[in-house]
Amino acid sequence: MRRIIITVDGHSSTGKSTVAKQMAAELGYIYIDSGAMYRSVTLYAIEHGLISQNALDKSALLEALPEIKINFSWDNGVNKTLLNGRDVSELIRSMEISEMVSRIAALPEVRAKMVEIQRSFGVSGGVVMDGRDIGSVVFPEAELKIFMTASAQVRAQRRHAELLASGQEVTYEAVLENLQSRDTMDSERAVSPLIVPEGAIVIDNSEMNQHDQFNMILQLAQDRIFGRV
Ligand code: C5P
Repeated sequence: MRRIIITVDGHSSTGKSTVAKQMAAELGYIYIDSGAMYRSVTLYAIEHGLISQNALDKSALLEALPEIKINFSWDNGVNKTLLNGRDVSELIRSMEISEMVSRIAALPEVRAKMVEIQRSFGVSGGVVMDGRDIGSVVFPEAELKIFMTASAQVRAQRRHAELLASGQEVTYEAVLENLQSRDTMDSERAVSPLIVPEGAIVIDNSEMNQHDQFNMILQLAQDRIFGRV
């Protein structure tokens, strides 16, 4: 059976990773969270004192890039992100990282390294990858490209609930502001900005439930896997 590449791009907190993970599990494909890679580089930069709220030591970070090794592991159906062998899956979800990651993701050298790693996961197909530039830059030839969006308010409500559930104390307003500033930075950056990739199917899930959305994307994937489109 044909093993295709599925890209899931879109705005922050639109549920890209949830649906991408479900798709990978359903099809027996690997799932790659490209945002986790940019978040891991950001964590490295924070821990090595290379970035703060108002400064970024770009040359030191670029010098350190070869030392930054990012891997994924799949443990009993749970995806883990490893930064130099350490499980950082939880740490990279903090608000501190969310607030700084778009500045790191705007650096062309960082992107070049991440894109190279991301492409290596796709060599034999059978991958679902989510992010911001996956359908436009990483896999422009992907068989199925999805672009997800939703209103900023709906996204902030969902993300706020998730952060509270994971024990982080944060206000709805701070989450909304972070989403909006990441949207702006991700869409306006010079290198690989967030765009709707050519040929992508746009899904606005402000009023769609996860079950219907999953079924819709699965149908689109099966149409391509079985050559119906
Ligand atoms: O997907 P997630 O929200 O975890 O991504 C965190 C940040 O990483 C995004 O806001 C964006 O700045 C950056 N990113 C990117 N390109 C990707 C994935 C994420 O620039 N392919």
